[in-house]
Amino acid sequence: MGRDRHLHLGAYLRITVQSVPRTHRVRQCAGDSEHRVTGAPFCSQCGSAVKPREIEKDGFPTLLDLEDELAMGETLQELGEELDGAVIVAINNMRHVDGTDYDIDNGGDCVVDITNHDRPQAMCEAFARAFEKEISALEGHPDVLSVAVRFGFIDYWS
Ligand SMILES: [Zn+2]
Repeated sequence: MGRDRHLHLGAYLRITVQSVPRTHRVRQCAGDSEHRVTGAPFCSQCGSAVKPREIEKDGFPTLLDLEDELAMGETLQELGEELDGAVIVAINNMRHVDGTDYDIDNGGDCVVDITNHDRPQAMCEAFARAFEKEISALEGHPDVLSVAVRFGFIDYWS
């Protein structure tokens, strides 16, 4: 967690994913996999060599995993997650793709008046148009359960 709190107001992508066995690369003591290892080449508890190993573990894919597996580039930015990773919240990472804003910027002011704001729907539609390719690629990923364009506040740290 970073030190600066941000509030994003705008269109975002809500991606629901399922937990599946994934390959993780870990460093383990060759004598006892339960031994805690440090950066050293040998285990401080039993002296055995510490070796890299690939283990299968259940886990939710992150946005980077999905982008990687779909070779779709990093046009989206993961801002947060809900339900321990079962839901990925992502925003535009390129800004003004087709000349349209997808979020409401306060321009440094502390207040943004949205009393008469009529843009949420238009921003969602512009977002869906600009990211049509990414959305359809994500929908085709076997670990993705649903993809939806939403509009709202995202509270995050960086
Ligand atoms: Zn050991």
